[in-house]
Amino acid sequence: MNSGHGERHNRHCHHCGRPVRDTTHTRADYSVDYYGLHTGDVEPVQLQNRDDGESTTILRLVRPYEVFTCVECYRKASVQDERERLFRPELAEASTAKSN
Ligand SMILES: [Zn+2]
Repeated sequence: MNSGHGERHNRHCHHCGRPVRDTTHTRADYSVDYYGLHTGDVEPVQLQNRDDGESTTILRLVRPYEVFTCVECYRKASVQDERERLFRPELAEASTAKSN
């Protein structure tokens, strides 16, 4: 992920809302202020399989966007959870379905 050079920095943490800074590099080290995650809104689409007549539900990406998480929020377990769900929405659905 090496894009964003020369763009305006108008990013905020998705969880606490604070503005996040770009990663700064020094000679010896670098400091990361946020983590980016590419995700998006998805909608389930039913696909009918012509061969066996079974239908499958797939998730179609309808609106991609990027989520930013500041380093403080990144350490929280609840935020890790949320990122996990954002990244793989189909897993979140599966885990709610098997609750018994
Ligand atoms: Zn935050």
